Amino acid sequence: MICDVCGKRAASLFDRIIENGKAVEYAYCEACYCGLLKIGKTPSEVARERISRIGKECGICGTTKEQFESSLFFGCPECYREMREVARAAIARLQTGGTRPISSAFDRKILKTAVEKDGFKTADECTAEELTRDVVISSRIRLARNIEGRRFPKIMTAADMGTVDVIKGAMRAADGVFDARILTMSGLSKADKKLLLNKHLISLPLANNDSCGAVIIEKGDSSRISVMINEEDCIREQCVADGHSLGAAYEKMHIYDLALMRELPVAYDKEFGYLTSCPTNVGTGMRASQMLCLPALERTEAIDDVLKTFGDLYGLTVRGYFGEGSGAAYGMYQVSNSRTYGVAEKDTVELVISAVERICYLERVALEKLLKEHKTQLLKGVRDSYGRLAYAYSLTLPELMEKLADVRLGVILGELPIKDMAVINTLIEKCITSPEITTDGISDEERCIARANIVRKLLTEDK
Ligand SMILES: [Zn+2]
Ligand SMILES: [Zn+2]
Repeated sequence: MICDVCGKRAASLFDRIIENGKAVEYAYCEACYCGLLKIGKTPSEVARERISRIGKECGICGTTKEQFESSLFFGCPECYREMREVARAAIARLQTGGTRPISSAFDRKILKTAVEKDGFKTADECTAEELTRDVVISSRIRLARNIEGRRFPKIMTAADMGTVDVIKGAMRAADGVFDARILTMSGLSKADKKLLLNKHLISLPLANNDSCGAVIIEKGDSSRISVMINEEDCIREQCVADGHSLGAAYEKMHIYDLALMRELPVAYDKEFGYLTSCPTNVGTGMRASQMLCLPALERTEAIDDVLKTFGDLYGLTVRGYFGEGSGAAYGMYQVSNSRTYGVAEKDTVELVISAVERICYLERVALEKLLKEHKTQLLKGVRDSYGRLAYAYSLTLPELMEKLADVRLGVILGELPIKDMAVINTLIEKCITSPEITTDGISDEERCIARANIVRKLLTEDK
């Protein structure tokens, strides 16, 4: 028999009480019984209170059903087990994305028979590699993990921090996987944080968590792995890779994830999977995303249909990325899985990869259409935008992004001196991370001039 007070240890003391004319028996472990008597409480009353809360409130963190319903955040991994029905209903409500696989009518084998041909290739003449090469900018895997018996960071207490040394465990897991160093949020300057934010190594909520936020990153300037500690979830592992390489990013992250399981008691449930602060991530805890540049779909006004189709049918989230909130996406879109429950990690990665290849195919079809119907206008835009960037004195970020959408099309069409899209990707990266742009205290005007200098240099010298 288990103790009715802590619900954990075996009971060795028993109590028989008459309640409303009925005999009720309570069981206690020694620790609880003595502890309660010491602080002047009646064990049977505490036990009755605890039993009445079962199914309505978490015994570890005290989060109630009502609190969850109003915030949609659980307090700790145990909440899922104590409120299974509530969790099930929430998952059914929040994770509505379809799991339908990408239509087999889109036969990827057709794409493999590459056509030897100079000049512009149509969508059907391209291999999957050719379709994705200039369209997919980057790939990213994120895994959310938590610690058994410990509150989620939102409501974490000093007592939780003392139970398991998460940072040490997460550092040990990196042994042999990547060369890791640890940075605490309280030890970083504003400018350092901004740089890490721009490189997508940390998130805004983490940057703001000076009390216990930390990040483990790969040493060196080109770090691609980061492990955020005490963000929305206790641990958020993340790996970014250039281009269409979601599979490689996943493999890398998976190796670290397995090491993490060996080092820390990661919260997992047979029914729910990995337990996360918000049930929108429960299951795999995985967000697999790819950043695409789709200027042709945007210009042919087919983009909304594509977003809707891939969102509704395939359970993916596709959203304009760059100008979040401003309405302008400048051709940049992020595709990611929306479902994490009831799916496997590997299948999720496969789903996103095949959806992205399908979207790239449609982007190429849209480009064919533009070439056929608006060739002069298209090429004029390409040349004008290139000229503007190559000779700019000052550039705002929105203007840069707008012109770059044209320049990308120019590179794909072979209309510009730049033949390699990597130049454009480096250019964006430099414009976001260079110290002459990110350093505190630089005026907007100076920033626009510095941006134009970077762009001019790369476009006119680096080809
Ligand atoms: Zn007990
Ligand atoms: Zn809880």
